[in-house]
This record gives sequence, structure tokens and C-alpha cells, in this order.
Amino acid sequence: MAKKSVANLTEADLSGKRVFVRVDFNVPLNESGAITDDTRIRAALPTIQYLTGKGAKVILGSHMGRPKGQVVDSMRLTPVAARLSELLGQAVVKCDDCIGEGVAQAIAGLANGQVALLENLRFHAGEEKNDPEFAKQLASNADLYVNDAFGTAHRAHGSTEGVTHYLSPNVAGLLIEKELQFLQGAIEAPKRPLVAIVGGSKVSSKIGVIETLLEKCDKLLIGGGMIFTFYKAQGKAVGASLVEDDKVELAKSLMEKAQGKILLPTDVVVADKFAPDAAAKTVSVDEIPEGWMGLDIGADSVKVFQDALNGCGTAIWNGPMGVFEFDKFAVGTEAIAHSLAGLTATGTVTIIGGGDSVAAVEKVGVAEKMSHISTGGGASLELLEGKELPGIVALDNA
Ligand code: ADP
Ligand code: MG
Repeated sequence: MAKKSVANLTEADLSGKRVFVRVDFNVPLNESGAITDDTRIRAALPTIQYLTGKGAKVILGSHMGRPKGQVVDSMRLTPVAARLSELLGQAVVKCDDCIGEGVAQAIAGLANGQVALLENLRFHAGEEKNDPEFAKQLASNADLYVNDAFGTAHRAHGSTEGVTHYLSPNVAGLLIEKELQFLQGAIEAPKRPLVAIVGGSKVSSKIGVIETLLEKCDKLLIGGGMIFTFYKAQGKAVGASLVEDDKVELAKSLMEKAQGKILLPTDVVVADKFAPDAAAKTVSVDEIPEGWMGLDIGADSVKVFQDALNGCGTAIWNGPMGVFEFDKFAVGTEAIAHSLAGLTATGTVTIIGGGDSVAAVEKVGVAEKMSHISTGGGASLELLEGKELPGIVALDNA
């Protein structure tokens, strides 16, 4: 179901209104408390500037880290407020809490087009518990709601779901709108053929994604550590490779259901130990030596995958092809990243979802060449699994 977007709100809807915007400012800090990567803050700017440009009073709320309902000084959003104010080129009113009298006063003092940043929402246990009383207090300082924190949209928290019961309208921010357009679009109405690439370490963490994608896609390419469970299901010897014995039967039934849609690698790079300096060699998947473990897909498999991807309308990738954290075993992942970047240039819609997959694409330096890089790890997986995300469901339908 398409959701109403902040872009549908006009100056008449927004001018002078207090807008509570759930953002994802969960940025990494170093030991001295300085922000080491401000990508998430910059990603929220379009929505914030859209609102300030239309005369709204913007109230930003975010979590940072896992303070578990306690005030933890090292998880305060003070450095975020400073960085945000630099990026916006205007002062940001930083509140010391996210609810209560002080916050109410600070917000009452906002002029049209001004921005306030609340303190870490997770300093209150009511946030993660989705306590109605907490949500009501959060909402009490606002008129309407914008959710632009895709990374937490799969959680029903006070600021992602609870507040929507007290505010109206409830709309998607520009970031969430883009996530839905690409991820939901790829599942519901993809430009075909749709080729999915799934990798990562375990079958168990990707069952839902594989099952959904299998139904929707034209081809499913599988790499990463999970291939060895499929090989075991085919009766192959897998040496010391990662295998989930309790998922062998499932792998078998998935292959039967897939009726040839699933493509597995034909060769793998095996190592004598799980280490960056391991001895390595490429072998056919029928000749994995005893005691060796597969840590990457081989050059022949890369070619097979590239052929399968060639000319596809949509390519969606979740999960690295190998242990890309070790340079020696990053070759397959890097090759697929380059192939997808090249395909984007020829008109393929390329979508990358999943924390490690996105990290791999960024490491290769081709992130800008993809159609869409999802900002949500767990949330993008759940969307690809076809699940309804509570933070999205709670928004008004378009
Ligand atoms: P994502 O975060 O993109 O969803 P996952 O978390 O499922 O991806 O998987 C990423 C992890 O899978 C990486 O840490 C990588 O080292 C691991 N991995 C990939 N191939 C193998 C392999 N052959 N053996 C063991 N681990 C692997
Ligand atoms: Mg991961």
C-alpha cells in the first residue's frame, strides 16, 4: 500500500505547524565523542529542509546506541546537534530530554522554520516498550508526524508507531519514501527480468528473503557461506566449510521449489584456515578438499553470475559472496559490485540491501553507481521478505 509522503504536504499544511520528525541520527562516535561518519545526518537534510522551507517548526527525535532506558552521558545527541547546525547553516535548539516541561518550553519558543533536536529517545524505557503514555507525551508537543528513520521502521517503538495514534497526518519522509519506492517496487512491480543475488553467512538468517525472492524473481543467484548447506543437500563434500546441518532439508526443498531458478556457484576459493593470510586455491564445487573451507566464489562462478545478470531489468543484492573482510576472499564480492555498477549505467535498476552488503559496496567504492543503497539493515530485509513494518503501516495511506 502506497503511503502519504511529506512531499504531499504544502506550505498551507505546514506553515507554523509543529512537526515531529523521527530521524535516524544513530551515528558512530569515537572515544572522545566526535562523530566519525555523518552520513545519516546528511541523509536527513532533504526532509528537514523541505519542512523548514515551508515554515514548519521542526522537532527532531532519534535514538543513539543502546542506553536501555537510562541516561548515558556518552550517548547524548549534543555532538549531533552541533554537526546538524553546521550542515543546515542555522542554529539548532538542543533539548536535554525528549519529554517534559523543559522540552515543552523550548518548543513553544520556536519560530517558523526553526529546528529543535530532542535528547536520545531511548533514555526513556517507554520508547522501546512503545508505552502509550510515553508516546502521548512525545506527541503532546507536536501537531503532525513525519517518519524518516527507515532503519528503525521494523520496530514498533514510541516514536515510530506510538506517536501516530496522537498526531495527524502521519506521513513518510523523503528517505523512507525512496526506500519504499525501490524495495517495495522491486518486489511488487519490478522491471523484468528480476535477478536476485543472496549471500552472507547463513541460510537460517535469509530463509524469509530467499522464499519471498524465489516467488518474485526470475533468477536467484546464491553465494556466500550458505552455499555449502545447498551443496550438502546435493550430496557434495564441503570440507570444513560453514554448514547448517539442520537446514540441509530446507535447502533441498528450496531447490525443488525453485525448479531451476536457483543458480549456485560452480567453483569456490577454499582456504586452509579462517584467516586473512590463509593459503588459498580455487577448486570446482565437486572437489572441495577435506579440511579446507570455502570462503569466496571462484572466477568461473563470477562469470556465470555475470551472464545471468546481463540485460536484467532489476538486480537486487543482499549478502556478500564471500568473507569480504579478508582482502584475499573479497574478489567475488568486488566483481559482483563492479558488475552491478556497470549494469546501472545500461539501465538496470540496481538495489543493495543489508548492512554488510552495503559496507562491501562502499569498500569497493561503487556505492554512488547503484540505483539505491538501502539505509536499513534489518528493515530492508524485512521489507524484502514481504513483511509489514510497523513504522510504515502506521503512516497514512496515499
Ligand atoms: P548482510 O549484512 O548484507 O545482510 P550477512 O550479515 O548475512 O549480510 O552476511 C555477511 C557475512 O557473511 C560477512 O561477515 C561475511 O564474512 C560472511 N560470509 C560470506 N561468505 C562466507 C563464507 N563462505 N564463509 C563464512 N562466512 C561468510
Ligand atoms: Mg550483516
